[in-house]
Amino acid sequence: MFYIADLHTHSKYAAATSPSLCLETLYQWALIKGIDVVSTGDFTHPAWIKELQEKLKPADNGLYTLKELPSTDVLHGIKPQSRIVYFCLSVEVSCEYVVNNRKYRTHQLIYAKNFETVHRINKILSKYGNLSADGRPTLHLQSHELFKLILNIPGAHFVPAHIWTPWCSSIGAMEGHTSLQDCFKDVTHELFAVETSLSADPLMCRRYDALDHLALISNSDAHSPRNLGREVNLLDTELSYDSIFNAFKTKQGFLGTYEYFPQKGKCYNDGHRKCKVSLSVDEVSDNICCVCGKPLTIGVAHRVEQLANRNITEAKENIQSFKYVLPLPEIFAELCSIKAENPLETKSVIQSYSKAISFFGNEFNILHHVPLEDIQRYHSKLSIAIERLRINQKHFTAGYDGEYGHIYFFNKEELQAKPAQMALF
Ligand SMILES: [Zn+2]
Ligand SMILES: [Zn+2]
Ligand SMILES: [Zn+2]
Repeated sequence: MFYIADLHTHSKYAAATSPSLCLETLYQWALIKGIDVVSTGDFTHPAWIKELQEKLKPADNGLYTLKELPSTDVLHGIKPQSRIVYFCLSVEVSCEYVVNNRKYRTHQLIYAKNFETVHRINKILSKYGNLSADGRPTLHLQSHELFKLILNIPGAHFVPAHIWTPWCSSIGAMEGHTSLQDCFKDVTHELFAVETSLSADPLMCRRYDALDHLALISNSDAHSPRNLGREVNLLDTELSYDSIFNAFKTKQGFLGTYEYFPQKGKCYNDGHRKCKVSLSVDEVSDNICCVCGKPLTIGVAHRVEQLANRNITEAKENIQSFKYVLPLPEIFAELCSIKAENPLETKSVIQSYSKAISFFGNEFNILHHVPLEDIQRYHSKLSIAIERLRINQKHFTAGYDGEYGHIYFFNKEELQAKPAQMALF
């Protein structure tokens, strides 16, 4: 069966996450977005694991469902299509270590088939850090050492998180290693997947041949429920824990991903947030900020350029299949000419969004599954935005140094045009 999985999320127990991030809100937003499998995140945290055990029941496929389903009425009468939402036990950990006077910090994802596996993992990891300090615990061991520990635990899987981000990643420019091999050493060949990060897509990954044999998976890394599904994995297998990871390993049944536009991610360009300096890889000459004179944060586009051993033309062959997505509330914000950090705090966007979700069932239906003619009958300007999303015809300002980029589909004249005039464009 076809299904959608978002396998990197957090709970309210991780640093800098929304206090409303719990199993019920993950369930609600999985329905709204159209996601079938969502990770629990944070299974190393004692309070969260207690909640998981209390509220989840095993679904006999290595995944879990909620014992009691909450109402879906989270936004202005929203009525998403009903579906079974499965939970996959997961955690992201932060490995922090120093080798030859260089400090490394990498984030790694771990998955478990059941609570027994979770307890085995937690028992081992507790030797390397304080698991109750943060939903994403800091562990004092090297990335390859952690991977070796996980390889020895049946039912557990390991995937490097957001590998390209400048901070906290396996091969990122600021705190990562110079290559995948340098990070994972003698167990590099055991990797079967990597998470690409919001600021990278499979086309960019294709330029670095060390990733060729790996499944390029994509997830939301949601720190609040409404950010669920910013990126997801598309699968066509029997729906089970083993089948998901088997599909990543064999690439049989792994159909690809829905990807954030990389320029929308907050680490695409080089730059300095506090100096408002953002430079594309073609603009940057040295790595020094022209305002404060300190080194710039090197973005993902530049890091890919540093590690690339294929040019863009060569990379265009044999790319893992993917399509771009943009959160629908942001598309409605553009249609309503609203500039807001969080469009879902604006009444008109909430109303348009709730109505559209209730009409089409969920967000991914609108972004990619429903025929354009159906959207055109519903809202003609929305259908133009969705068409442009689907064919990657966009304008953007790129994200940099922690500042998100912006994607938009219309120019000023187009936005002011009456629907009937839009045909001219
Ligand atoms: Zn992370
Ligand atoms: Zn994360
Ligand atoms: Zn600066």
